[in-house]
Amino acid sequence: MLKITDLHATVGDTEILKGLTLEVGAGEVHAIMGPNGAGKSTLSYVLGGRPGYEVTGGSVEFMGQDLLDMEPHERAATGLFLGFQYPVEIPGVSNVQFLREALNAQRAARGEEALSGGEFLKLAKEKAALLKLDMEMLKRQVNVGFSGGEKKRSEMVQMGILDPKFAVLDETDSGLDIDALRVVGDGINAIMRDPGKGVLLITHYQRLLDYVKPDKVHVLAKGRIVKSGGPELALQLESEGYEAVAV
Ligand code: ADP
Ligand code: MG
Ligand code: MG
Repeated sequence: MLKITDLHATVGDTEILKGLTLEVGAGEVHAIMGPNGAGKSTLSYVLGGRPGYEVTGGSVEFMGQDLLDMEPHERAATGLFLGFQYPVEIPGVSNVQFLREALNAQRAARGEEALSGGEFLKLAKEKAALLKLDMEMLKRQVNVGFSGGEKKRSEMVQMGILDPKFAVLDETDSGLDIDALRVVGDGINAIMRDPGKGVLLITHYQRLLDYVKPDKVHVLAKGRIVKSGGPELALQLESEGYEAVAV
């Protein structure tokens, strides 16, 4: 589904990704772990097409298409979802309004009909229940005054509504207590564990992987994948540290 080959990217004048190669097949969940500053968030921004992140070499194929050749909204309409380490607040816009606009824009880009208000609310209620998020939260302004855990659950509701083919989730576990971690983990499994979907799960810690079992684990350090293995690699990293295992 996602094939990244020898990817190089710079921010400003600094090269951050230095020849990153990674392939995720349909039905697979891959975890990326790595020390602070390794380039994990940069990878997710580059995949999303964020301005200021310049690709200077390599290629990314997404569902048979050249991802780097697509505009950010085309990437989303094709089925790429990005979950952010720091979800942004959008004052003045309600979550329901935002989610309905986003979904219908993507449906339009795919030549599908817009959902009516009633159809949309039914879908939103279903996904909010899945993430144990009160519908009242969805009526509030996007992320304004939300706790860290509420932002992450709200983002997973967004993922459920958009129903992407592939999700890149950047430190979705940060700021979650143990109960919220389980709810978010269960949500990721319910929404994304599917033979036709894929997930790239970026995390500092092993604990989210207790809930969302990865097929493969990769260590990203200094802009490259320096080691890959199975779920046991995450446990080894947790007990021994990045330095000892991979850097
Ligand atoms: P990680 O998510 O693995 O902690 P990041 O991708 O956020 O790492 O950052 C990788 C490196 O790129 C860091 O050294 C960071 O300081 C640098 N970096 C990230 N964003 C910017 C930016 N906008 N301007 C300059 N340097 C940046
Ligand atoms: Mg970091
Ligand atoms: Mg980061």
